[in-house]
Amino acid sequence: MNVKQKDEEYIAATYSRFPLVITGGKGSVLKDDTGREYIDMGTGIAVNTFGAADDDWINAVNAQLSRIQHTSNLYYTKPAADLAEMLCTRTGMKKVFFSNSGAEANECAVKAARKYAAEKKGREYSVIITLKNSFHGRTITTLAATGQEIFHKDFLPLTEGFVYAEANNIEDLKQKITENKTAAVMFETVQGEGGVMPLTEEYVSAIAALAKERDILTIADEVQTGNGRTGMLYGYMNYGIVPDIVSTAKGLGGGLPIGATLLGDKVKNVFTAGSHGSTFGGNPVCCAAALNIISRIDEALLAEVRQKSDYIIGEMSGAKGVKSVSGMGLMLGIETEKDANEVIDKCRENGVLVIKAKNKVRLLPALNIPWEQLRKAVGVLKAACE
Ligand SMILES: *Cc1c(COP(=O)(O)O)cnc(C)c1O
Repeated sequence: MNVKQKDEEYIAATYSRFPLVITGGKGSVLKDDTGREYIDMGTGIAVNTFGAADDDWINAVNAQLSRIQHTSNLYYTKPAADLAEMLCTRTGMKKVFFSNSGAEANECAVKAARKYAAEKKGREYSVIITLKNSFHGRTITTLAATGQEIFHKDFLPLTEGFVYAEANNIEDLKQKITENKTAAVMFETVQGEGGVMPLTEEYVSAIAALAKERDILTIADEVQTGNGRTGMLYGYMNYGIVPDIVSTAKGLGGGLPIGATLLGDKVKNVFTAGSHGSTFGGNPVCCAAALNIISRIDEALLAEVRQKSDYIIGEMSGAKGVKSVSGMGLMLGIETEKDANEVIDKCRENGVLVIKAKNKVRLLPALNIPWEQLRKAVGVLKAACE
């Protein structure tokens, strides 16, 4: 059996894969099993922040790997302590809980919000308001948080206590907060899986103002928007608000699995010994990887992300066959006249890997993609849209 046949025989059929076996890569160039090269505009869904097999990142990972690969949370380790300090210093958050994925980072956020509200306002204040068209993960609770019926239907009953408000509709949010005993409002500043849809500034300001007025927590799901993706270290920083809880994962480890839930001043002491945990959480190799990534996301890199974003938006807006361009930083969605699948296939045939979000072509290149490769990829994409 070849790889494709073996995969289809033995791996649960949850994914519809592109017809490619990826065997390696360097930076923003990936290689398949026939030796063909592709410019990567997807980075494993916003995960390989500095591209494939980045030397500096490999050195950081290897150094920790040869010291020790895992200790459990029964012991202190330096990479986890250093990473937590760096995340708090860069965001103003006060404490961090480490996990292994976006869904787990969100689970922790929900637990923190519910425990805080129960202790402060009473156990009945358990409702988390999330937004329609959101995506927060695949566990039973984060599915419940996800405001898209299509993901729910085969897995009922889900965790109780989630209510969905319409994105960018302040009146609807007010009504949902008034009608429910609310612990928190949870949102992505740019809805990634929902079609790369940014929230408006007015709406995000209203979330923050209403939360303050009604003593409700705010949870920013920065799993996809985080770690430099939107041109700021975290997406909420584009909006001038400070959430109470921030969850992140995807690009944090640059390709190794790590999730983090950042706890602001209000909730910094909500967890006590035994109230939450994770065997792999804070794994020293993953933390060493994330330390390398976060320390390299400086103002110069973020400025370059914004510049590259402006370049892509400038090239694609109004291009032949392009209906609209949405998103922020290097997290962009292109609505095309042709079916998105057709554009994606055409790009791949011409050596460029792009992915999909809803009906859009989604671009999530490495934050350090070289200009020359970016220009080439945009050229191929433009031609594929025509
Ligand atoms: C991908 C994603 C998740 C889920 O992350 P996993 O690591 O797949 O569990 C949650 N929230 C958002 C916004 C995401 O983009």
